[in-house]
Amino acid sequence: MTLVLDSSALFEMQDLPGDDCVTVPGVWRELERHGDKRIAYWEGILRTSSPSEGSLSEVRKAASGSGDSGRLSETDIELLALALELGSPLLTDDYSMQNTARLIGVECIPVAAKGIKKVWRWRYRCLGCGKTYNDDIKECPVCGHGLKSVRGR
Ligand SMILES: [Zn+2]
Repeated sequence: MTLVLDSSALFEMQDLPGDDCVTVPGVWRELERHGDKRIAYWEGILRTSSPSEGSLSEVRKAASGSGDSGRLSETDIELLALALELGSPLLTDDYSMQNTARLIGVECIPVAAKGIKKVWRWRYRCLGCGKTYNDDIKECPVCGHGLKSVRGR
């Protein structure tokens, strides 16, 4: 089963919840804007797809009918349209997206739901000396090099 993921799902999760996960181009821009260190990791396992104009306009119509238009970003609309087009569930905790999804018959799975979050955590390893840290600090206090996210246990 294909799952569509929004950026809040990616911020929240430690790993993808399925083998076939897809997102829209706008989500990558949001991850970049937040300086997410896991972009390279997600890029290796997460597909990107853009919805058609037809599904986009269907979502816009539903959102304006429900009054959610103002609360949905262009990226939110793309995600809903992609989920609609693929007939796939959408992983999101966003209320307006959930509300609009209901109107167009897209199933939403809340990210906070049991089983979605994985148990392991991210750790951050210094590219210079190799020391690892639990927190995403800007640079290594020992040698001043940058850090890279790695899977911890
Ligand atoms: Zn270091």
